[in-house]
Amino acid sequence: MIPVSKPYLGEAEKQAVLEVLESGMLVQGPRVAKLEEKFAAASGVKHAIATSSGTTALHLALVANGIGPGDEVITVAFTFIATVNCILFVGAKPVFVDVDAETFNINPDLIEAAITPRTKAILLVHLYGYPCDMGRIQAIADKHGLKVIEDACQAVGATYQGRTVGSFGTGMFSLYATKNVMTGEGGMITTNDDALAEHCRLLRQHGMKRRYYHEMLGYNYRLSDLHAAIGVAQMDRLPDFTAKRRANAAVLNGGITSVITPKVKDGYGHVWHQYTVRMPAGRDRDAAVKQLTDAGVGTGVFYPVPAHQQGYVREQLGEVSLPVTERLSKEVISLPVHPQLTPAELETIVAAVNRL
Ligand SMILES: *Cc1c(COP(=O)(O)O)cnc(C)c1O
Repeated sequence: MIPVSKPYLGEAEKQAVLEVLESGMLVQGPRVAKLEEKFAAASGVKHAIATSSGTTALHLALVANGIGPGDEVITVAFTFIATVNCILFVGAKPVFVDVDAETFNINPDLIEAAITPRTKAILLVHLYGYPCDMGRIQAIADKHGLKVIEDACQAVGATYQGRTVGSFGTGMFSLYATKNVMTGEGGMITTNDDALAEHCRLLRQHGMKRRYYHEMLGYNYRLSDLHAAIGVAQMDRLPDFTAKRRANAAVLNGGITSVITPKVKDGYGHVWHQYTVRMPAGRDRDAAVKQLTDAGVGTGVFYPVPAHQQGYVREQLGEVSLPVTERLSKEVISLPVHPQLTPAELETIVAAVNRL
């Protein structure tokens, strides 16, 4: 089976972890600092703050932006559930805006109608590694005085008009094992705001600047040096990983004719966390997934049940209608695009998809 994702663990990662073990210092320390430095440089931001997961990064980003009970946050339901859960963690209300069927991202045309006097932020998601239309979104946010928070968990290294995602508002990333760079479990917040960065660092460690003196209610959302050591090695590979994903996506786009393939607009630097096709209307996705599995091609469906249709979200927010999101959740199939694919495997994928 050609897996839909495959974490790369080379000699450098193994050596780096062994060095941490031999040092005897496993907790947040010099490797976390090194990873933050590399991540900030790669993202073109002043600060990167490592956390224990993408979810904890997003939770801290919302707390540090002052979002809480009574606030509304505009977001999408076509995402991994963590995006929405973090809004609920802080007691705010997610207000869902439908996505664009071509980009899979928030539809900027629909944002303004969702703004109310309670709206505090736009939490957008650069889904599958495709950057959102940051020009339009930034203009809307500026006009209405809203904060921009970017769920860039799937989009490390992606660019909009040459500028890296995570540098527009408060950025957050996941370093989970299947993401484009990874530490096993881990996360990162990016910002150019000195005060916000300091606030996130305090929140990460029980509000503690001086040992056992606590300046605020905080959490334990630290990353360990064992995990960070893997990430430091991975950051050196990021340009190569991204180039390979782009080359693989180009082969798939060039060969696949039986389903709707993803298009990338000018000015958007896609990093292909997922290569996601759509089944044309009326075609059975489950049957297609089964046929691909039988042909040895791994697939993923991200995501079969949109956030607004998850039981507990529906109980809290009531019925919401998002026609494009609902349609896409029944049409999408992600195919392998990861950097370790061989030319023969790419051929197998193209042939299997074209036999659908
Ligand atoms: C992976 C992911 C997250 C959560 O990251 P974890 O590290 O798994 O906590 C959040 N949002 C999106 C869009 C993701 O893909």
